[in-house]
Parts: sequence; structure tokens; C-alpha cells
Amino acid sequence: MRIKPSESEFSESRANALEAFMRCLETGDVAAAPKCVLVAAHPDDETLGAGAQLAGPLRRITIVHVTDGAPRKASEAIAHGFETPEAYARQRRQELAKAMEVAGIGADQLVELGIRDQESFLALNEISRRLAGIFVESGAEIVITHPYEGGHPDHDSAAFCVHAAHDLIEAKGDRAPVIVEFPSYHLKDEKLLTGHFLSDSVPLRANPLREINIHLSGPAKLRKLRILRSFASQLEVIRMFDVEWERFREAPAYDFSAAPHPGGLLYEAHDWGTSGVLWREKAVAGLRELAIRKERL
Ligand SMILES: [Zn+2]
Repeated sequence: MRIKPSESEFSESRANALEAFMRCLETGDVAAAPKCVLVAAHPDDETLGAGAQLAGPLRRITIVHVTDGAPRKASEAIAHGFETPEAYARQRRQELAKAMEVAGIGADQLVELGIRDQESFLALNEISRRLAGIFVESGAEIVITHPYEGGHPDHDSAAFCVHAAHDLIEAKGDRAPVIVEFPSYHLKDEKLLTGHFLSDSVPLRANPLREINIHLSGPAKLRKLRILRSFASQLEVIRMFDVEWERFREAPAYDFSAAPHPGGLLYEAHDWGTSGVLWREKAVAGLRELAIRKERL
């Protein structure tokens, strides 16, 4: 019979994993890094959020891409210079492979879930279950992903699925990884804000969030720029990001049934596959179907 660790053993190992993660980012020590998995919605999100760390202390990481980065609409492919969504998806896969080679991440460290761009909200439970399997199999102590910030529906879906996978693992009485997040982008005062956490998101946990801001200069910044240049089809978006800073914090326990912030969401101002209301309907239905215990909220 397997003896389950006690609640206090879980919380101690969570604190140790988070401490080790923060310390390895501070010192750049690869050997000190806990076992990490990064879950990105699209190819390039991993580099925008954590490129310098991937090429540095987190280089042994496993990176999961939820979508292929190519929406089903032919107009999106054509706007990027490709005849079909399939050709656009191939290009995005090749760009990612090149970028990760520049970063020093091996092809065996990459996992593709193969969901279509803008359609992850239609497969929340499938993605959550697959992620839970990957987290358990890899022995992940830390999982890094997007925050729930209303910037892109696939980013919010990645956040939802990582949190749901965490809760699925905990519901079985096993140790779930600590969730850490990096900011992508959202609407602030009706303008696009990149690289900063949503300031009015309310942490629901009693303990304060641990946050680390890393200033990139010299070789680290140059290397991140080199990795980013591999994403030739995305340079217009990438230019909007600040490459001087990478920020990470322990994720709050989100209420995915509520909007991430008051007012309109960035993706509601674009034709990116869904509205906030529809996304949240899917999230609520997903939580119900997964029957996740909510006592940690
Ligand atoms: Zn993205």
C-alpha cells in the first residue's frame, strides 16, 4: 500500500520548490533548478516570457505548446504571407524548432498538443487531462504558464488548463506542481500593455505572492533577441514587447468564472475566436465536468 504524504509535507515541499526556483533564477545556477515544465499557448510565448531563462538556468525544462499558432481562418494565414493555415502552422513549427535550437533546448524537450490556434477554449478538459499526465510523468515541481489576464483566449485557456491539471492531481491526493506565471499582454486603460502583470487582479490566497523581476542586459538580452529573431512571421507582435525584463510570480488561485478585469478584454476588440462571456461559459462547464474540488479557493 502506498502511503500518501501528509498535507504539511506537501506544503513544505511546495515552499522548497518555489524557493529553489526563485534562487536558481537569481543565481543563474542550472544545477539548482527544480524540475520545471513551461506551458505556452503559442510558439514564441515561451521566449517572450522566459527566453533568457530557457537559454540559462532553466535549460533542462520541458516546454508544452498548447496550440499550433495558426488559426483556422484562411485570412490569418494569407495576412502572414501563407496560402493555407496548414502552411502557416508548418512555418510556425519550423520557427519554433530554430528558436529552441538557438536557445539550446533539445527537440526532445518539446511537446506539442496540436490544438488549433484560437480553439483551445473548445478543448479545455482534454488539454487539462493531458497536462496532468505530463506533469505527473515528468515529476514537475514547478509549472510556468500565462496568467489569467484577458489578453488572448489561448493564453487564458493555458492558464485555466494548468490550474485545472494541478487540481486534478491534488484531487487524487498526489503532490501537484507549484504554478508560476509570466505576464504576456492585456488591455490597460484601453491600451495594450505587454510584459506586466494585471495590477488589479486579486490574489485569492491568504499568503502573499512571491514575485521576481529579472533585468536582462549584456549577453542575456542579446541571446533573447537572437532567439526572438527566429520567429520571422511574428516580428510585428514581438516588437511590442519589452526585452529588458522577465517577470515571474507564484500564480494566484483564479476564479475563472469571473472576468480577469473590469471592462472589455483585449481579445474582444479582435476577431480571435471567442468573447469573454463565451470563454467563461466553457471554463465553468469545464470545471463542472472535471468535478474539481474547490476547497483550496
Ligand atoms: Zn501567445
